[in-house]
Amino acid sequence: MDSAVLAPPVPAAQLAHRFAEQLAPGSIITDPTRLSTYQCDGLAHYRVTPAVVVLPQTAAQVQHVVRVCHELGVPFVARGSGTGLSGGALPHADGVLVVTSQMRRILEVDVANELAVVEPGVINLDVTKAAAVQGWYFAPDPSSQQVCSVGGNVAENSGGAHCLKYGFTTNHVLGVEVVTPDGELVTFGGRTRDTPGYDLLGAFVGSEGTLGITTKVVVRLLRKPETVQTLLAGFRSTDAAGAAVSAIIGSGVVPAAIELMDALAIEAAEAATHCGYPDGAGAVLVVELDGPVAEVEHTFAAVQQHCRDNGSFEIRVAADDAQRALIWKGRKSAFAAVGRISPDYIVQDGVIPRTKLAEVLSAMGELADAAGVRVANVFHAGDGNLHPLVLFDDGVEGEAQRAEEVSGGILDLCLSHGGSITGEHGVGSDKAKHMPKMFTEDDLDTMQRVRCAFDPKGLSNPGKVFPTPRLCGEVPGRRTEAHPLVQAGLADAF
Ligand SMILES: Cc1cc2nc3c(=O)[nH]c(=O)nc-3n(C[C@H](O)[C@H](O)[C@H](O)COP(=O)(O)OP(=O)(O)OC[C@H]3O[C@@H](n4cnc5c(N)ncnc54)[C@H](O)[C@@H]3O)c2cc1C
Repeated sequence: MDSAVLAPPVPAAQLAHRFAEQLAPGSIITDPTRLSTYQCDGLAHYRVTPAVVVLPQTAAQVQHVVRVCHELGVPFVARGSGTGLSGGALPHADGVLVVTSQMRRILEVDVANELAVVEPGVINLDVTKAAAVQGWYFAPDPSSQQVCSVGGNVAENSGGAHCLKYGFTTNHVLGVEVVTPDGELVTFGGRTRDTPGYDLLGAFVGSEGTLGITTKVVVRLLRKPETVQTLLAGFRSTDAAGAAVSAIIGSGVVPAAIELMDALAIEAAEAATHCGYPDGAGAVLVVELDGPVAEVEHTFAAVQQHCRDNGSFEIRVAADDAQRALIWKGRKSAFAAVGRISPDYIVQDGVIPRTKLAEVLSAMGELADAAGVRVANVFHAGDGNLHPLVLFDDGVEGEAQRAEEVSGGILDLCLSHGGSITGEHGVGSDKAKHMPKMFTEDDLDTMQRVRCAFDPKGLSNPGKVFPTPRLCGEVPGRRTEAHPLVQAGLADAF
């Protein structure tokens, strides 16, 4: 078995010495205090200190780092801004963390060809800022868009509020330059919309850093819509708001965004941003339409009617950009705002068919009540992409564990209602154990064949996505006995 993960660790000093052949001393971190900054991503309850952190400035430097790792059998993990919520950028204790925060150049904005070329560490919102002067923008808009990187967006196939109409990152990436796990520099896709051969770009987007490190991304730009209309609708219950969502989508209208917040999420947002959402609302919907003026005017009236027909007691239409920003401020700050009403919380991410919304939200409420914890909901309702926030107090004996159980139970609910264990936050370290609930052994083995084709030594972000660190020396196929690592007591089987 070709098992680089089992190779004895290479001393950090030796790695640093090799990296220094091509990286400036300031770009190599081995000091324990500085290393601790990189222990976790946005999922802070998993923490691992890496052996070495590097901050390359060029693709050639990334290539050098990866080549050294390949030669010595050292695992490496890419990190953009570290905002991931599934532990995808969790370092490996004996490995190297490759941080792209010094690769932030926007190399080209080419509106005639509807594209921009950027380095992987470029902040998502900065792409739009660069294109906005010419009236263009980059559509994927995670709520973390002010800080997350384009490389991270590609790795996670990130979504956001406007993915209902515009699709996920995968629909907005034309090509990537990648350092493969053996240190080769390759390109998947390009500057045009279709290339012959297998869709390796499609395989790479959403691969969570397990197939190599992106060093350049060609993103699609979109022309800013002629007009945008946004409304906030207050409902007495999430059931009523959910019914309005189904009515809007069922009528054939495709809003740019439909977001739902329940009473607890509204309470948190109010405490943090004083966004002035309707008094007494058990749920609010934020609905945004964009496009040509004539079309938006017509459909916006229809959307308001669907809200009223399903029990909305108050509808506010944003009269200008400032009012629109206030409506979105409450929604976009909701995750962080939950910190105002609970000392700790878990952000869950699952998908259900839209029509099951009321059923799943009520089952989720029962689950939380039985465990004695609270769940706040703020999510992309149009996509059926739930983001339940399971609130708990780590200071109360047993509460963290109960919250964790509720969080896992929510994913089971998503699956039993025909959904998925993640919508946009990825599998990472956090959900690897849930993958067998959704995929058969054959499915997982097939995915491993792809992974092994790129990374036979299993060095690129090991331990993520797949439930056990099955390695490439094994012939993929039906698993008939425990994995050798499990037998050796070195890994858990889930
Ligand atoms: C408040 C908040 C709101 C959020 N809202 C949303 C949302 O609406 N929609 C959504 O989809 N996500 C959301 N997220 C999750 C997160 O912001 C996204 O997944 C984002 O794309 C991660 O980008 P990052 O640069 O922080 O990546 P990181 O966290 O650094 O890394 C994420 C993954 O990408 C890999 N990676 C990073 N850079 C590279 C590279 N150059 N090459 C290869 N692999 C790489 C890492 O190894 C890791 O597996 C939110 C997070 C927070 C904290």
